[in-house]
Amino acid sequence: MADDRRNLVITGFMGTGKSTVARAVAQRMGRACVDMDEEIVRRAGMTIALLFETRGEQVFRDYERALCEELAARERLVIATGGGALVDPLNRELLARNGLVVCLGCAEWMLVERLRGDTRRPMLHGADPEQRLRELLQARRAAYAEAPHHIDTTDKPVKAVAAEVVTLFESRPRVWRVQAPQGDYPVHLAPGVLGRLAPMLRVRGVAERVVVVSDAHVWPLYGEGVVEGLRAGGFDPAPVVLPAGEQTKTLESVRVLYDAFIEAGLDRHGAVIALGGGVITDMAGLAAATYLRGVPLVQAPTTLLGMVDAGVGGKVAVDHPQGKNLIGAFVTPLLVLVDPDVLDTLPKVERLAGLAEIIKAGVIADAELFGAFAPERTTPDLRWAVERALEVKIAVVERDPYEQGERAVLNLGHTFAHAFERLAEYSLAHGLAVSVGMVAAAELAALRGVCSPSTVARLRAVLAHQGLPTRYDAHPPDVVYQAMGTDKKRQGARLRFVLPRDIGEVVIDGDVPPEQVIAALERIRT
Ligand code: NAD
Ligand code: MG
Repeated sequence: MADDRRNLVITGFMGTGKSTVARAVAQRMGRACVDMDEEIVRRAGMTIALLFETRGEQVFRDYERALCEELAARERLVIATGGGALVDPLNRELLARNGLVVCLGCAEWMLVERLRGDTRRPMLHGADPEQRLRELLQARRAAYAEAPHHIDTTDKPVKAVAAEVVTLFESRPRVWRVQAPQGDYPVHLAPGVLGRLAPMLRVRGVAERVVVVSDAHVWPLYGEGVVEGLRAGGFDPAPVVLPAGEQTKTLESVRVLYDAFIEAGLDRHGAVIALGGGVITDMAGLAAATYLRGVPLVQAPTTLLGMVDAGVGGKVAVDHPQGKNLIGAFVTPLLVLVDPDVLDTLPKVERLAGLAEIIKAGVIADAELFGAFAPERTTPDLRWAVERALEVKIAVVERDPYEQGERAVLNLGHTFAHAFERLAEYSLAHGLAVSVGMVAAAELAALRGVCSPSTVARLRAVLAHQGLPTRYDAHPPDVVYQAMGTDKKRQGARLRFVLPRDIGEVVIDGDVPPEQVIAALERIRT
């Protein structure tokens, strides 16, 4: 699993803004913040200056060591260290064990300016504080240099520094190894990872001839770049570009892909690279799974939904006139590449649709992810949210790769959503339908006493705050109920629902009376 639970440790010389930056970073990332000096003041029951004066520096350092030991055992914190805390190599080692250490730096003249006349700093007490400051800087320089990451804060507002810290933390490449029945496969999440496709294929022994499958929107934006990169890396890529949109996700298109694969001379030593949204990863995935009984598949999802849902988990499919995703397979991809840099060009409605699935992941299993979208919070970093939602999806598919039980939780809101989509003849974006569907599922849960009304209210508030729909009155409840009947996820005659018990926890309920479903639909009309 990823190392995102690691703490973010902000260190640096006194006066570089560690505490303020740490608080700003914690707020942006939706994490708790621990300011070591503040914590020591709390524990000692006196100011640091007084602690130095009455009990001596060593006692302060003992507090510091004990705190480092505790913090090393915790996770998902933003920690502002004291200015001298990481001068001690053991403290450094402790905090780095489970944390990314970022050192803030600052021009000396500016430090002098910032700290002039600051009497709360015992380390600067003496006849000539300015001279003392320079000496201390000199003495600690080597220790600070040990930090793996440095950010200069001279003349930068706190907000800018905090943004830099978050970017640094988020842009560390993240790699998961997804356990699957046919073998593990890696999921790489990193900005720019698409540009590293060639070496990644080479180390996996993929032959020169590969096919890149994309759609007419994605191809002009990213296809050329990917093909260029492959060529430069010694591959011989053949592109296939299909029309964009769900209407393309058919067996006829798969047939077009087979023809292109044959024409390109693709064999089992090569690979199919699916570059696009869920439509492309599903369709190219099915073609790759069946052509020559299976050729290596690289999933490179380019939509938010593709990144957190369709591109991972091994399900691939195309639609049939009788229903969505009726023809498909389970595959083990060679590799999944998630490059958040491509999200910048995503149309607004696609962004919203993906956001709904991210919030869904929060409702299913990650209350902290959900909480980060609450109205009282600043909108979280999208890359961070992608990572967290991906972790939810990966954990679920690892436990239930063939969708025999638990994986159904990923369909929270979907039984309703599929009916809304069907009634709109698929002109309603899936993610938007899922948004309303989740509200309906929550209302149903409240009606059945599975969750409290306040959970429903929180869900509505978060979705609405993100600009997602929470109401549905396009068709009356009984018509929607009828439309739910043809859902393939139905088991026997009874409708099965995934219901939230609380934010971060869902249950599967296979025995819901129709009247309650209708009542829930009634509740989402307003
Ligand atoms: P999509 O593939 O149609 O992409 C949405 C639109 O965004 C398209 O017009 C596409 O061309 C465009 N686009 C894609 N990336 C872009 C980018 N970076 N910049 C600009 N435009 C871009 O739709 P989707 O929402 O990604 O996927 C929906 C499909 O995924 C459905 O068919 C659904 O059944 C499937 N799905 C599959 C799974 C699974 O587990 N296999 C899970 C969820 C959804
Ligand atoms: Mg979905």
